[in-house]
Amino acid sequence: MKRLVPLFGALALLAGPVLADPALTRPASTWPADKPAAEVREPVVILVSIDGFRADYLDRGITPHLSALAASGISAAMRPSFPSKTFPNHWAIATGKVPDRNGIIANGFEDPAHPGEKFTMSSDEPYWWDEAEPIWVTAEKSGIRTATMFWPGSNVAWGGTLVTEPHKTISGGTRPSDWQQFNGAVSPVQRVDAVIDWLRRPAAKRPKLVTLYFDQVDTAGHRYGPGDSQTDAAIADVDGDIGLLLAGLRELGQPANLIVVADHGMAAISSERTIALDAVADPSLYKLGDTGPFAGITPTEGNEQRLAAALLKPHEHMSCWRKQDIPARFHYGSNPRIAPYFCLAEIGWQIAAKPPEKASTGGTHGYDNAAPEMAALFIAAGPAFRPKGKLAPFDNVDIAPLLRDLLKLPPAADGDGNDAPFRGTLAKPGRDQAPLSGGR
Ligand code: AMP
Ligand code: ZN
Ligand code: ZN
Repeated sequence: MKRLVPLFGALALLAGPVLADPALTRPASTWPADKPAAEVREPVVILVSIDGFRADYLDRGITPHLSALAASGISAAMRPSFPSKTFPNHWAIATGKVPDRNGIIANGFEDPAHPGEKFTMSSDEPYWWDEAEPIWVTAEKSGIRTATMFWPGSNVAWGGTLVTEPHKTISGGTRPSDWQQFNGAVSPVQRVDAVIDWLRRPAAKRPKLVTLYFDQVDTAGHRYGPGDSQTDAAIADVDGDIGLLLAGLRELGQPANLIVVADHGMAAISSERTIALDAVADPSLYKLGDTGPFAGITPTEGNEQRLAAALLKPHEHMSCWRKQDIPARFHYGSNPRIAPYFCLAEIGWQIAAKPPEKASTGGTHGYDNAAPEMAALFIAAGPAFRPKGKLAPFDNVDIAPLLRDLLKLPPAADGDGNDAPFRGTLAKPGRDQAPLSGGR
């Protein structure tokens, strides 16, 4: 296995007194005369996303670093927000608001307020993103330096204005002090190295909140399915990347509160489990948005009654609603960006415009956020956390309130979550939290 640091390394990082470089515990008299004493560093908060890391992947016995982190802190099967897709959930985690209220209601959508425009995973115009404020913007506004090694929305000049003449430019807005334009070709090792390099800086230029994003587990889950050995290989690989991060932090003597999350899980699919919409309603009656685990459907002019009659009746392996009638537990349907009709497939099934042309298997996500297959990884460990083991499942909009606690920011006035799941798991400074330079 490449790059794995010894398991005790993960534990050592989290054990309070040994968070600091061993040099910190060396008696002063042994310092070479010409070397200044090592700096005592403040803990950094690192929010890591492992895209598509289903909660139960942690039980496969192939993740020594993540498992050691979980054992030394807290973990849970976290409920994603609906729909269980990448962009809506990364934005829910960063803003503390569900997609219906954070504005990123799918990976691709349109907005009646911006006719002719379409949101895609590369859209960076601030107006798509301005319905909810991400934690790095709140932090920067409060004078807390942040750095993002990828995270959906972290490249956006948040709150800025799009100036379309003479070219598409953006004026104003707030970004992390350091950020990177998303590029899937940047390797996981390069991503970890970038984070460690930011933390190598002098204290004044060092971030206090960092994000780090890995996509290889999601990619493998889609291609091979959640139960495949190639997905296991990607899981083991990302665990090695976490090991590298821990080793880098240890080498710097940089204490860290790590919050490791996933945006959603993964369910096995097969082309044999496809619902062809053209057999449900005449395609001339509607325009289709995103398809897959769910479909947003807009009637064509004059055809609303006929479309409603075709959709709003029982279907095998699929439920359809008018957007205002989507069951309340999904917290989805009031945003103008959501299409007037919405269909959701049963787990493992897919909605398509027409029958598949060739056979395929693999994995996907976007289903009911309460389905066990959609449950997402959550681990938190570091000097701020007590070893409290496995918590009851909670909603991913509770992560932003936890981050605010760690950064000593006041609670958000209008968030959808709260820090209740973590009460009793946070160490009180000075009492449970071991001093950085304490002995072993
Ligand atoms: P999904 O279709 O929901 O599985 O989306 C996962 C994919 O989103 C990943 O494989 C990435 O390639 C892509 N992705 C993740 N972060 C970004 C980003 N910041 N910008 C553009 N694409 C991204
Ligand atoms: Zn994802
Ligand atoms: Zn995915």
